[in-house]
Amino acid sequence: MRDRASFDVLVIGSGAAGLAAAVSAERAGALVALATKTTLQACNSAKAQGGIQAAFGEDDSPEIHAEDVMRSSHDTANPELVQLLTSEAPSAIHWLEELGVGFTRSNGGYRLARCGGATRKRLLQVGDRTGHAITKALRERFEAGSGTELARHALRELRSADSCLVASFETRDGSADIEADAVVLAAGGRCFAEAKTRGELSTNHPNATGEVTRIAIEAGVESRDLDALQYHPNGGAWPSTMQGYSIPETTRSYGAVLRNADGDEFTDSLGARDAVSAAIFAEVEKGKGVQTPDGRPAVWLDTTRIPAADAEISLPYMLRRYRAAGIDPLAEAIYTYPVLHYQNGGLVIDEHAETTLEGVFACGEIAGGTHGRNRMMGNSLLECAVFGRRAGEAAARRART
Ligand SMILES: Cc1cc2nc3c(=O)[nH]c(=O)nc-3n(C[C@H](O)[C@H](O)[C@H](O)COP(=O)(O)OP(=O)(O)OC[C@H]3O[C@@H](n4cnc5c(N)ncnc54)[C@H](O)[C@@H]3O)c2cc1C
Repeated sequence: MRDRASFDVLVIGSGAAGLAAAVSAERAGALVALATKTTLQACNSAKAQGGIQAAFGEDDSPEIHAEDVMRSSHDTANPELVQLLTSEAPSAIHWLEELGVGFTRSNGGYRLARCGGATRKRLLQVGDRTGHAITKALRERFEAGSGTELARHALRELRSADSCLVASFETRDGSADIEADAVVLAAGGRCFAEAKTRGELSTNHPNATGEVTRIAIEAGVESRDLDALQYHPNGGAWPSTMQGYSIPETTRSYGAVLRNADGDEFTDSLGARDAVSAAIFAEVEKGKGVQTPDGRPAVWLDTTRIPAADAEISLPYMLRRYRAAGIDPLAEAIYTYPVLHYQNGGLVIDEHAETTLEGVFACGEIAGGTHGRNRMMGNSLLECAVFGRRAGEAAARRART
């Protein structure tokens, strides 16, 4: 007889991955609790703007998508996880649509953009608030179900006990222990905390502090590529209100290019993320960069090349924010510089998103392997949907046995 609150499946984290896992576990018949550090809405996922990849183009296929992922990762990704990611992408999109996500359409199909490192147009968007739309739909579905929401529950320890797992939390009232047959870790990455340590800017939500990765490792879970952190090539550098903002990569998909102080294009603006960031760092190092009015290093992102019609459909939020700050990106180039953005590595998982510790699953940014050491844009939200679903279903299965 257990004397603490007890669930079949306990999910930690309420970003896209945790929500997808919680919804899937509940659909599979499990008694689910979703614990999160602050509020259900607080996460990186909701900040994601650009979009989500899935091979829907006539000239595209999950195999070509997988090749792009492997090449962008410099062959460091786990090919089995990549194959699952790309082959289940179309069904993950249909699942999100069924939950209420309305992807932008044009000419009778999805509006697809080509993102950095991709050989085909494959990026689906919901305007430039894709993460907001996905998390809202998932959250509403979770809230409409029978799952228990545990807001203001910050995980502090995870341990195995007789035939179950015990999670200890810091709560508003002190502390709480919760038992579960299976635990899904979906607490995201650590780039907010890492940027603070380095004295740099980050695109991340303040809850992206990475302690759950450490807790999992202490509990015995294996990790990989944790040193591989990703810079978003296009952090906002000026005005000051846009510093740390991630200018959607779709600006470059729709024609924006990077220029140096002489106005010259110095790199393939649609290269892989690490290559584009490295090119910007090198250009500034060579003295070919520009300085923001407050003295920060930068280069130009020439957004004046984006057709107004594309910008209005796919970049309305970005336009609104810059225009509110007195800059019209369709009339003048904007300052940009790479900014700390994403934890490429994480906890080792298998094809069911199970970690090396039995009964403990991981999905989303906290997991490693799907992107190797360099993630392509648009594959993180996809990973949350594909492996969040897999984790939820597998955790529910485990709870039944
Ligand atoms: C500005 C921005 C733009 C982006 N744009 C895109 C894009 O266009 N396309 C794309 O694919 N990806 C994009 N990404 C990346 C992507 O959004 C994230 O990597 C992904 O959404 C991570 O989802 P997650 O569910 O794993 O983690 P998060 O969404 O970060 O959620 C983690 C959750 O865990 C909680 N948590 C943390 N610690 C604890 C704890 N100790 N106890 C309990 N709960 C805890 C947090 O509060 C949060 O609810 C973007 C990221 C940012 C920041």
